[in-house]
Amino acid sequence: MGLFSKPKHPYWVQHSHLFKDDEYSCSKCGCKVDWPKPVCPGCGSKMGASQDDANWVDEAEIMDILFGEDD
Ligand SMILES: [Zn+2]
Repeated sequence: MGLFSKPKHPYWVQHSHLFKDDEYSCSKCGCKVDWPKPVCPGCGSKMGASQDDANWVDEAEIMDILFGEDD
């Protein structure tokens, strides 16, 4: 599988604003929401934490192991 053996899960990209509340956009479809929802309303993806650091993927996978996929 090489370089892309680990699939990238969609996540919320946080957008900070000076004069209004933060927004979050889906890394997959770009849908914007006011707060990080568990599922993207745009593409229906199950979302991870609102981080853009790659390390969160490992944490999310640990969560999956602990709690399982129930969808
Ligand atoms: Zn989406």
